[in-house]
Amino acid sequence: MIYDLYDLGIIGGGPAGYSAAIRAAQKGLKVILFEKEAMGGACLNKGCIPTKTILHCTDLYKSLKKADKFGINISDCSYDYTKIFNRKNEIVEKLQKSLTKLVLSHGVEIVFAEATIKEPHKIEVDKNIYQCKNILLCTGARPMKINGLEPDGKFILTSDDILQMQEPGQNILIIGSGAIGTEWARIFSALDKTVTVIELADRLLPAADTDVSQRLERLFKKSRIKFFTGCKVESVENKTVTLSNGQTLSPDVILCAAGREPVLPKNAEIFETNGKFIKVDKNFRTNLPDVFAIGDINGTVQLAHSAVHQAIGVVDFIADKTPVHFEKDKVPSVIYGNPEIAWVGKREQDLTGTEYTVSNFPVSALGKAFADDEIDGFVKVISVDGRIAGAHIVCPEASSLIHQFALMINNKMTVDEALATVFAHPTYSEAVFESLLGLKNLSLSLPASNTK
Ligand SMILES: Cc1cc2nc3c(=O)[nH]c(=O)nc-3n(C[C@H](O)[C@H](O)[C@H](O)COP(=O)(O)OP(=O)(O)OC[C@H]3O[C@@H](n4cnc5c(N)ncnc54)[C@H](O)[C@@H]3O)c2cc1C
Repeated sequence: MIYDLYDLGIIGGGPAGYSAAIRAAQKGLKVILFEKEAMGGACLNKGCIPTKTILHCTDLYKSLKKADKFGINISDCSYDYTKIFNRKNEIVEKLQKSLTKLVLSHGVEIVFAEATIKEPHKIEVDKNIYQCKNILLCTGARPMKINGLEPDGKFILTSDDILQMQEPGQNILIIGSGAIGTEWARIFSALDKTVTVIELADRLLPAADTDVSQRLERLFKKSRIKFFTGCKVESVENKTVTLSNGQTLSPDVILCAAGREPVLPKNAEIFETNGKFIKVDKNFRTNLPDVFAIGDINGTVQLAHSAVHQAIGVVDFIADKTPVHFEKDKVPSVIYGNPEIAWVGKREQDLTGTEYTVSNFPVSALGKAFADDEIDGFVKVISVDGRIAGAHIVCPEASSLIHQFALMINNKMTVDEALATVFAHPTYSEAVFESLLGLKNLSLSLPASNTK
């Protein structure tokens, strides 16, 4: 059967797909979206939301354990992981339903089925053909397999499997210290588990500024999270793991968090790729006419907000012919846990050969940090030619603070323009203000010797 002509056919109902669907409907386009599992994609079902729901519980538990320090009496503070697990499922289910309703409310047709692109302008589902003027491929990514560590859902786990574990065990080995590995390390450590992280690169969180990586090492040590850098798994035999540094470990489970690979549609050979991911131009067009690929599938930046931003840009390009404005550097990254870590723009190690100014303000100089007992962290800012070029934060509320710098960078603000803003007291935003003052050696909260 051949169905009507749609303005836009979208394959995948994750952040890329559903945001594009809503934006396109708002622009008056006739839209159909195909989803083979559940609306919300990896973000809602296997990523951002379930992990943050668990993290909220573990952060709360961690705070309550030190209640005594704050003059609050709590005896027998303990947790019930089954309840944490069930709450996570309930929230995901609730959000799935409301997301589906939201998308339908915009007049988007949703078909729950696996779709392929037969040829440009034709999407095929169960031998039915849907004719579409434009097609958006938003099929996302899945956990990458590591050679010799085939996930079995019991001992060797992917980030999808760990979310299904009602009892994750006491001794956890995590492979990879990127966003996912670090987040789970901090979740399990907060739950009093024995955690070991191994990282192939020579430092933790290799995508971060080196100061951030170093601080994370300190935070891991403080939380008794063991880690080995420049290290990989050599072999796994009878649940005994031998590492390349000669150490042997006997974890209850191994969580593999060493990257994600694209989920390609069945006839993927029709697409040009960049190694693994779908190759796109600056307007996110693939090699096929009127077929675009956005979100994790193009591998540019594998984050939900990046997918959403690409969705808005591409739909506006299709509807209004306005070129897409997307700069990888301007996408903020957040590593959740206590304290939060976030960055945007240039890292110091990116600037070899460029003249720059850097200022690093310790959170321990803030009254607010003492009030909260959260003094381990900093706000680091880098300027090039008097303009804000990058910021790197380890601090409570870093996930929100980073947007102050994202706005500055996006608007090409000078340090003086940023300093014209009034920052409220007592807040962690004062660390943003002080870091900016530091670029001019004018910090108000550091001793004179630090401001010379
Ligand atoms: C553990 C974890 C934690 C994360 N935490 C964060 C975070 O805190 N913040 C953040 O920004 N990002 C986070 N991410 C990344 C984020 O989830 C992804 O960047 C985001 O989901 C990408 O959106 P997408 O729409 O491109 O793809 P996806 O969300 O993967 O959606 C793709 C959709 O396409 C569907 N699909 C695939 N093939 C077909 C087909 N042939 N036919 C029909 N449907 C198909 C899939 O079922 C899926 O629903 C996390 C990821 C993980 C794994």
